[in-house]
Amino acid sequence: MQGECVGDMNCKETEKSIPSFLKGELEGDRLAEFVEHIEQCPECKEELSIQFLVTEGMEKLEEGSSFNLQKALHDRMEESRRYIRINRLLRRTLYWLEALVIVVIAVAFCIYFEWI
Ligand SMILES: [Zn+2]
Repeated sequence: MQGECVGDMNCKETEKSIPSFLKGELEGDRLAEFVEHIEQCPECKEELSIQFLVTEGMEKLEEGSSFNLQKALHDRMEESRRYIRINRLLRRTLYWLEALVIVVIAVAFCIYFEWI
């Protein structure tokens, strides 16, 4: 199983992160790595499905509402993917803003000292 692992996160780490993911506690890079691994690793996806059923499914069954596990899990993954996309976009924007600020400061510095 070790050989099939992809990405920075291995199966053991991913499995350990499943409860945190289900509680919505994974954020940023860890969430991105988790989702990336889950999507490429059938074993971990299976494990996630089982744990998802146990935690969320049981709750829903107690409430007596009908529950589509596959759809609920799919929705959860979609939600994570959206979060990761926004997170990456935000970080890229911040990166460019930072670069812009540095350029502006450098230009202002040069003008101040009449270098240009
Ligand atoms: Zn795995």
